[in-house]
Amino acid sequence: MNHDQALWFPYAQMQTMPPALEVSSANGVYLNLKNGQSLIDAISSWWCVIHGYNNPKINNAITSQLNKMAHIMLGGLTHQPAEELAKKLVKITPDGLNHVFFSDSGSVGCEVAMKMAIQFWKNKNITSKTKFLALKRGYHGDTLGVMSLGTDDETMHHTFKNILPEQWFTTPNDLENLETILKNNHLQIAGFFIEPIMQGAGGFYLNTPDYLKNAKKLCEKYNVLFIADEVATGFGRTGSLFAVNQASICPDIMILGKALTGGYLGLSATLATTDIFNTFLHDDSSKAFMHGPTFMGNPLACVAALTSIQEFFDNKYLEKIQTIENNLKNQLSHIKNENIKEIRIKGAMACIEVYDVKTIQSAQKIAVENGVWLRPFGHYLYTMPPYIVTNKELKKITDIMILCTQ
Ligand SMILES: *Cc1c(COP(=O)(O)O)cnc(C)c1O
Repeated sequence: MNHDQALWFPYAQMQTMPPALEVSSANGVYLNLKNGQSLIDAISSWWCVIHGYNNPKINNAITSQLNKMAHIMLGGLTHQPAEELAKKLVKITPDGLNHVFFSDSGSVGCEVAMKMAIQFWKNKNITSKTKFLALKRGYHGDTLGVMSLGTDDETMHHTFKNILPEQWFTTPNDLENLETILKNNHLQIAGFFIEPIMQGAGGFYLNTPDYLKNAKKLCEKYNVLFIADEVATGFGRTGSLFAVNQASICPDIMILGKALTGGYLGLSATLATTDIFNTFLHDDSSKAFMHGPTFMGNPLACVAALTSIQEFFDNKYLEKIQTIENNLKNQLSHIKNENIKEIRIKGAMACIEVYDVKTIQSAQKIAVENGVWLRPFGHYLYTMPPYIVTNKELKKITDIMILCTQ
């Protein structure tokens, strides 16, 4: 038996995967490798480590909570960090989102949103609305339910395509197409799932505030819930605290994850309006929401999130993100060569899309040799740095991205 492969890595062909780099510690924007090298983490450990690593305030908050209790179930018991975080999230998210259901990952947070949307209609005695509409090239996680909301090429969820429920898909920024689908199918559609402003894992495509505003209106017109998946965009990534803020809309359901705990621990939040919450209140107990992840609202994760949010405001991250966006634009937007199809920049995100996947095949290797951690996939070479990145560190990241597309 080959004990070398006890650890099964994500999204990897284990037969050909090159050895993973071993990290022995991490500090600020730096990953410190066992071999003595340090790499700037240009992608914030899958977009969540917004403060960089080893933030003293979050470290302390977790340590002091650890001395009280690491975990208790949220079934019939409660604790101050969960109560306080729920109130905090209600306060900082758009007016109207007043109730918070915690889970332990973004995927599950989105599954919760799907179940909540279907049951919302069922509790109103509308049983036909069990399907969803989503954006083409969307990504809402890897579990079976949300996989049905992602359209994709041969790479991600293709193997499971024929066992997933069929959903509807619409083209981003195309209101006419959206209205046609809603008009013809609204009696079956429980909700419209969207990654507002920026679609992440599907290739960093952008949609506009104007599109969001009008899409929300169409959803109201056709009685379809507007469900904003802000797992990637929440907490500043696209330039505003939440992406929906740029359209001044309040979704019916909103999901947060990834950066919620500053990348410390797994936690997601599914927020709902009072209108939705109230349909679950009833003398009949079968109208209740029957879902409860074991680790929902874990106290360590909740204090990490509370401290992370405090750090976000104390350190004026929105200003920092503006500076990052300006620098990304200055350093990347004028770059042209025959390999580059498009460069997309929004907030603290920049993506170079290339015509041919071969162009960036060795990008990760080149970046590592130059002291930067990048993880391009498909046609996309991107950065989403921690917000504490300095101008000099960011310049190093963009220089290497340019080098990798030559
Ligand atoms: C990452 C991501 C998810 C899934 O989150 P996990 O914590 O990986 O389960 C869902 N939606 C979006 C938009 C994401 O970027």
